[in-house]
Amino acid sequence: MDKIFVYAEAAEEGVADCSLELVGRARALADQHGFVVGSILIGHELRNWATELIHYGADEVHIVDGGPASTTNMLFHAKAVAEVVKAEAPEILLFPATITGRDLAPRVAVRLGTGVTADCTSVEIGTYDDPLTGKRYEKILYQIRPTFGGTVMAAIVTPYHRPQIATVRPGIYPVPSKDETRTGQIKEWPIGRAEEEKSCIEVLEVKREKRKVDLKSARIIVSGGRGAKPEGFKLIKELAEVLGGEVGASRAAVDAGWMPYDHQVGLSGQTVKPDVYIAVGISGAIQHVVGMKDSKLIIAINNDPEAPIFKVADYGLVGDLFVVLPKLIERLKRTC
Ligand SMILES: Cc1cc2nc3c(=O)[nH]c(=O)nc-3n(C[C@H](O)[C@H](O)[C@H](O)COP(=O)(O)OP(=O)(O)OC[C@H]3O[C@@H](n4cnc5c(N)ncnc54)[C@H](O)[C@@H]3O)c2cc1C
Repeated sequence: MDKIFVYAEAAEEGVADCSLELVGRARALADQHGFVVGSILIGHELRNWATELIHYGADEVHIVDGGPASTTNMLFHAKAVAEVVKAEAPEILLFPATITGRDLAPRVAVRLGTGVTADCTSVEIGTYDDPLTGKRYEKILYQIRPTFGGTVMAAIVTPYHRPQIATVRPGIYPVPSKDETRTGQIKEWPIGRAEEEKSCIEVLEVKREKRKVDLKSARIIVSGGRGAKPEGFKLIKELAEVLGGEVGASRAAVDAGWMPYDHQVGLSGQTVKPDVYIAVGISGAIQHVVGMKDSKLIIAINNDPEAPIFKVADYGLVGDLFVVLPKLIERLKRTC
């Protein structure tokens, strides 16, 4: 049976959520189109994590243990992934579009003589009628992402080379539920020691900085854009506080230095799915919308009735935020 493989990225205490999300997505595609889901796990003494991957939806896990140095040596990871893929010949290989995934996917693609579609916001499987050869290809990965500065959502296909490799943005798909009754195969690969793979980078110490704001698990987000200006962000923070929510921002607001990058929502920021997303003084550029469109309820406040944000909003309020927000805050303070 054809295979979809997912590269399992390590977090501090297990497989990173971004990889579990991809295992969940691969599982859904596999059940629909008849694939086996495999995962590649590289590092030191990771057998428990392999079982975890199976509980989250993998049918088989391929472990490469290259000793303690294999945690950080990305050249070893590239070599190991390429070796496993050459032997197992999956049709599709997915990486999370994290710093590690973005570093690794092109290295693996070069070793395998195939391409990569980076930073996809969705992956689907379908047939592809090739206008060049007149041939129909089955089970093709549609690698969907904004392109040409966000003016077009492109569906990119790789009909002639295998595997079809894509990196997928974290936070797009949910982490699947864990099923501890699931069973699967675990295969260990002796691919040498990581220190044999000479890297020009030596990792001396790993320091993890905790995010200062947790937008991903926030139930309410009040986001501000260029229209808010620094004064507007005082009102946005106040509204977020009254509602018990977090503050988000467009890239324009982050670039202007009004909010730190941790708060940026969108293509080059975070993907969020709160119960309520309030966009204040944000025009609704596609690069912002891809990061918040799956929110359960979207409310937009903008003084331009033609602003594209109103196309994705469930409720729209046309008005000056400096007039609307103080009234809203005052009303909420009285009722909350
Ligand atoms: C590769 C790439 C990646 C990108 N990644 C991101 C990303 O991750 N996130 C992101 O947000 N953008 C991203 N962008 C930028 C994106 O294209 C837009 O430029 C940006 O989203 C615009 O931000 P904005 O809506 O705050 O500003 P603007 O587009 O300038 O919109 C400001 C809005 O405020 C309204 N307004 C002004 N005054 C008021 C007022 N007093 N009351 C009410 N409304 C008012 C205006 O009508 C307008 O609609 C990216 C772009 C590229 C090319």
